[in-house]
Formats: sequence, structure tokens, C-alpha cells
Amino acid sequence: MKYIVVTGGVMSGLGKGITMASIGRILKNRGYKLVPIKIDPYINIDAGTMNPYQHGEVYVLADGAEVDLNLGHYERFTDVELGREHNITTGAVYSAVIDRERRGDYLGQTVQIIPHVTNEIKERIRGVAAKSGADVCLVEVGGTVGDIESMPFLEAVRQMKLEEHENDFLFVHVTLVPSTMMHEQKTKPTQHSVKALRELGLQPDIIVCRSKEALKEDVKAKIAMFCNVKMEAVISAADAEDLYAVPLALEREGIWTYISEKLQLNQSKVDRAWEKMVERRRSCRDKKFSIAIVGKYAELEDSYLSIKEAIKHAATELGYNAETKWIEAGDLEGEKEVGSFFDDVQGILIPGGFGVRGAEGKIKAIEYARANKIPFLGLCFGFQLAVIEVARNVAKLEDANSAELGETSHPVIDLLEEQKEVVEKGGTMRLGDYEVFVRGDTLAKKVYGKKKIVERHRHRYEVNPAFIDQIEREGVVFSGTDRSGTRMEILEISPDKHPFFLATQFHPEFRSRPNRPSPPFKAFLEACIKHPPEK
Ligand code: GLN
Repeated sequence: MKYIVVTGGVMSGLGKGITMASIGRILKNRGYKLVPIKIDPYINIDAGTMNPYQHGEVYVLADGAEVDLNLGHYERFTDVELGREHNITTGAVYSAVIDRERRGDYLGQTVQIIPHVTNEIKERIRGVAAKSGADVCLVEVGGTVGDIESMPFLEAVRQMKLEEHENDFLFVHVTLVPSTMMHEQKTKPTQHSVKALRELGLQPDIIVCRSKEALKEDVKAKIAMFCNVKMEAVISAADAEDLYAVPLALEREGIWTYISEKLQLNQSKVDRAWEKMVERRRSCRDKKFSIAIVGKYAELEDSYLSIKEAIKHAATELGYNAETKWIEAGDLEGEKEVGSFFDDVQGILIPGGFGVRGAEGKIKAIEYARANKIPFLGLCFGFQLAVIEVARNVAKLEDANSAELGETSHPVIDLLEEQKEVVEKGGTMRLGDYEVFVRGDTLAKKVYGKKKIVERHRHRYEVNPAFIDQIEREGVVFSGTDRSGTRMEILEISPDKHPFFLATQFHPEFRSRPNRPSPPFKAFLEACIKHPPEK
């Protein structure tokens, strides 16, 4: 097993995750099998309970793990399907060590960070690597070198480097090279962060320098000398316009040449599909159109990162550049006429969400899309709100609502008995991959091209089966369900009544990949292109 460990210095948000995901893509293009691991030094056991305003979206894996959005980057860049074990947090490590201690596994020893916690970390990394059958294991140590939280992890990987064969282990350090007002590139922050790393016994093999513009040669030379690395190992990573072009940029900088020499990887045949995708993105950059995403203003764009990426994937394949316009759901609430908000968009998307704030504004947006025949895609909460909208305005159940949002005599969205059991058992949501069965002769069937699909889920509430008969009228149908047929998964308006109106209880965005866009996203964008709203 070969290991590439990525650390970060100077500050967070430098794109360490993208750097690692890009290295993954470079390896993958050469046919190597890889396995990414993300270390999150926080004490939460997983990201499920973390406030998305603080950390960007909660990304959901096939096995239902709720993880940091960086794992989304790994899946999109490397196309490896990840699971719970690919995310190692301090909380998970300590809780395992404490459980063992309680079971008496340590035979009365004093349980300490070194060696017990570090051993647990090493075992986890090696265990995941071995189980995956990969050639190369990529490990991103979250946080910034110098943080107290990441110390045990850095110590663990230091030990691993010593224990593994010399040609099997590589450290990549990502830092920042800021520029002064006079465009002088400053190396001191990089020097300091490498110094901090070396104090912990870690010497980076490669330094990836994030900067506004490409690093000047003399700046590279200086970093090489002060940080004790070869000049070829100082990789310039200037701000990129397109995230998906980063693997190609790093390659041009020689990162692969250096990695392949150090790790003795000699596969030279390269799959060019990724490169072609990036070229296609570049060539359709000016073929723009806009999609409105209606959400809550406090949510950063990052809260819908996977949706944004899924839109990109689908648009690229169709030869367009779809831009997203963020609309504050609350702003729609007081308005009688919401049309002016959507003047410059060709489609409306309502993403997942929780809670009552903004919900009525989103329902207004759905009503507007339905009545004005604007292509509409609803995801999860967006699906539930679409059910409420058609229940109120088509089926005339005027006070229809979700039990999540308030008291009503028509709880068209409610907790199923089954879900109540889940909550009683301490679980809170239906999470991860579940099969969905698509009804024949529907828009959904056309979109997916098959009857059985698998998509990722993250929800508590469901369509209340008691109201299905009343809701399904005037072309409104539930065109996808679970195996038993009781749980509604897809809502649509038949294509003879609306150019595109589809909503899903699941989150198709999590399975969208560059070069393999999610079917509902592709069909939605296709409809947006084909049916520009009448002006
Ligand atoms: N709040 C809704 C539920 O819990 C939708 C969740 C979501 O959009 N992820 O069912």
C-alpha cells in the first residue's frame, strides 16, 4: 500500500481537500485504484449534528454517513464510493478507545494519547486502506498544522512514515503564498508552517503553494531552500477559475512526475476523459443561462454545494454553462406577485431544508413555477413543499401542510409509523442509499430510463399515505415509491400538462459526477433550455 498524506498550513479554507481530490484524480486517470480518507480533528462523532452554516453542507454517503462536504469533493473527483469508515474524527477515535478501556482491553495499562490513541488512528487508516484493495491511500489531515486538535493525527502519520517502506509514503503540505500590494509573493507564512511541521518530526516531500498568481521561479527556489524540499517539489497552485481544472494544473506543474518517482509508480497510460470534460466546460463557458435556487439567506452557497456541482455536471454535458441565482425564500413571503424574482431565470429549484422559516416563500415559488409552466425541480424538502403546494392549490386541501411546519387538519407530510420507531431507537433520519421503484410511462421513467434506481436520502418526514388519492389528480402523480409502494419518492406533473415538474424525496445531487450527471438534473436543465419562459 502506498500512502499520500496531505496536511495544511497557514490557514483553513486553502483548498486542501481539492488538492487531495485532484491528486486522486491524477492517479485515477492512470488506472490506479485509490481510497481517500478524511481526518476531521473535531470531537463530533460525525457531521450529522453540525450546523451547516458553519461547515457548509452535510454530505450524505451511500451507507448513510453524514459527513463533511470535502468527502463530496473526493467522490466527485475520484468517483470512489465512500462510507462511514472513510471519515475519521477525533470523536470516533476517542469513543472507540474509551469503549475498549471500559471493556478492559488494555489490561490495566494507563491509557494515553501516545500510544493508545495514535495506535487506534493508525489501525483505522491501515484497516480502511487494506479493506479497499486500493493501490494508493490518500489521507487528508483536516485542520491546520499547529492546532491542538490535530496533534494526535500528525503524530500517528509521523509514526506510519517510519514504519512503512520509504517508497510507500509521501507527505504533501498545502500552504498559502500571499502577495503584497506591490505583487511581491511572500514566503514567510509557508516557511513558518513548514517549520511547525518539522518541529513535529514531519518533513513534507511536496509543498503545494496556493496563491493568486503562479509562483515566480525565485519564490519557488526560496521555498525549496528554506523548507528543505527539491525545487521540483514546490508546486504552484494559483487560483483556478474552474475547480475541475485543478488536477490538470497540478499535473502541468509536475506534481505527478514527482509523486511517481518518489512512490515508484510507473503507469504512464492516461485516460483523457477528465481532460476532455474540462475542455468542454471551457468551450461552453459563454453559453449561459440561469437557474433560481430558493433557500434561506443565512445559508452560505456552500450549504448547497452538491446541488451547484450537480448543475455544473449536467450543464457541461449539455454544452451549457448554467449559473445559479440565489433567492431568499423569506423575501417571497410578503409579496403578492413573485414573478419579478424569476424574470431572469429559466428554471426554479427548491433544495432540501428544515423548519418553518422561509417555507411559505418556497411554496410560493413552486406555485409560480407550476402555474407559469417554468421547469421545476424539487429536492427533499423541495419535494415535500411541492406536495403541499399541489395539495393546497390543485387538490384544494386548503390548509395542507407538513407536521414539521405546524398544526393542520391535512398533514400531507407527516412522520410514518416506521419513522417514529427510528426516532424512538435514537436514530433521527432515513439516511443513505435506498432503492426507488419508478412507475412505467411517467416522466420519471423517461428521466431515469429504468424502473429500479438507487439514490441517497436524508429525511425524517414522508408523504402521508392517507392523502395520496386526493393529491393525484389533474396530471399530478407519484411516479416513484419504495419497494412496498407505501413511501412516496417522486412527484411529477405529467409532461402534457407542464414542460417539466419533478420533485424527489431523495437527494440525487449526491450521486452526480462530472462526466456522469444525475438524470433528474440533466432532464431539468434540458427542459430549461428547451422551454425558456415566455417574456
Ligand atoms: N425537513 C424535511 C425532513 O426532515 C426535509 C429534509 C431535507 O430536505 N433534507 O423530512
